[in-house]
Order: sequence, then structure tokens, then C-alpha cells
Amino acid sequence: MTIASNLKAIQTSLPKQVTLVAVSKTKPNTDILEAYQAGQRIFGENKVQELAQKAEELPKEIAWHMIGHLQTNKVKFIAPFVSLIHGVDSLKLLKEINKRAEQNNRIIDCLLQVHIASESTKFGFGLSEVTSALNQAVEFENIKIVGLMGMATFTDNTQQVTQEFKSLKTVFHSIKNDHITTLSMGMSGDYNLAIEQGSTMVRLGSAIFGNRN
Ligand SMILES: *Cc1c(COP(=O)(O)O)cnc(C)c1O
Repeated sequence: MTIASNLKAIQTSLPKQVTLVAVSKTKPNTDILEAYQAGQRIFGENKVQELAQKAEELPKEIAWHMIGHLQTNKVKFIAPFVSLIHGVDSLKLLKEINKRAEQNNRIIDCLLQVHIASESTKFGFGLSEVTSALNQAVEFENIKIVGLMGMATFTDNTQQVTQEFKSLKTVFHSIKNDHITTLSMGMSGDYNLAIEQGSTMVRLGSAIFGNRN
């Protein structure tokens, strides 16, 4: 299977309300260009340096999403161009993104990352902290929170994964705010479960580009 044929098969199978982020981390520019030529315009990376370098080298029409854990001291490198930051997990980070967005005369779209997995290593706000984080984020004029992001536990237990996605969906739907429209959940191994639970944005790497080393 080629990248273009993987993409086409996935694009045809996705419901039309679901946006596909092609996760190109560790993959070379030639792979990204192949996906680009097949029509893909949204790409996700999880490392700031790799993201900034690829953004400089590749077509300007690409919308770059930062999907990984973001350290405050690295925000400045992506603030001029990043299209969506998925992993916002603290007010300190929001504050820094707001400052750098203002310096760049931009409003940066962000998703609050919510901790839904049983693994303790995954970052994010607790389910019960989302409302208060949203309330506090209102003061940041150069940030627009457009939704929530979550990662399920890495397990074959589909019931558990479904339950975790469901918990995020429930919080998502409880938010009374017209700007909160994006629910980023689902990776190559679990995106069908995520879509069943109402995901509006899936982040797929290996399903498009093949396994990473
Ligand atoms: C790597 C990564 C993905 C994509 O993972 P695949 O299993 O290759 O689809 C999605 N989301 C995040 C946050 C990632 O770091």
C-alpha cells in the first residue's frame, strides 16, 4: 500500500464531520509531500523542532498541528505559524501561548488536553477540571479554545477504551460554549471506537505512513 492509497481509503471511510490529521512525526518530507499531493493539508507533529523545520521546508498551504506535549520554553518557536495546539494541559502553558500569540499578532486555536487514560504518564487536565480551566482561559485574548483532546489507554481492551472516550465525550457535550466544537480523539489503533463516541478529529500516523521505527 502506498501513502496515497492509505489516505484515500481512510478518507472515504471517515464520516464527513470528522477531520483527519495526518501524523507525520519521524517521517521524511518526501512522505509528507506524497500525502500532500494526494490532497492532505493538515499534518500533526509532536516535537517542536521537527515541526518548525518541516513547516519551513514544506508548502505554506499546510496547516500544522502540534499534537504532543508542549513545554512553555518552546512555544515561541511555533507561535508564528501553528494552526492548532492539541495538548494544552496547564494554565501556565495557556499564559505563555497567549503571550507569544500576542507578540505575533495572532489568535492561536487550542484544545485542552484531558486525562482519560488509566496510565499515569499521559498529560492533561482531570475531567472535573475542564470547566474551571475554560473559565480561566477566557481572560486570554489571543487564545481561542476550540475543543478538547484526549488519548485512551494503550490496550486491546476495547471496552475500556470505549469507556474512556465516552467520559471525554460526556464532558465535551456538557460545555455550553459555541466555540467548543472540536473533539480530538482517536489514533490508528482506536479511531473507529473514538468516532463511535463522537470524535470530530482523528490523529492518524501509522495507518497512513506505516509503522515508525
Ligand atoms: C503519534 C501520535 C498519534 C498517531 O499515532 P498512530 O498510532 O501512529 O496513529 C496521535 N496522537 C498523538 C498525540 C501522537 O503522539
